[in-house]
Amino acid sequence: MNTKPAPICGQHKQPKEWKQTTYVYSEDGITVSVPNIYAWVCPVDGEAAFTPETADELFKSVRQLLATAKESRAHQSLLKEYSVSVSSAEQLRPAA
Ligand SMILES: [Zn+2]
Repeated sequence: MNTKPAPICGQHKQPKEWKQTTYVYSEDGITVSVPNIYAWVCPVDGEAAFTPETADELFKSVRQLLATAKESRAHQSLLKEYSVSVSSAEQLRPAA
């Protein structure tokens, strides 16, 4: 469980909620979507703030997935969409 006090959204002055969200990143016509990751989410506009640990993992994974997708496109693969999941997603929660 997360026991840190909730950060306050600077724009809406509301405490953020610790819950699962979906991170979406688009570059050069390729979209990478990472669902079910925990972040501090603003209750007003849904903007997610990821912990540094989660952001690092996201950045690394997204770069690798983009590279894979671009390579696939370069040799005109018939595959246009991928879905990958791993069972250890809970490790992305920050240490309590
Ligand atoms: Zn907000």
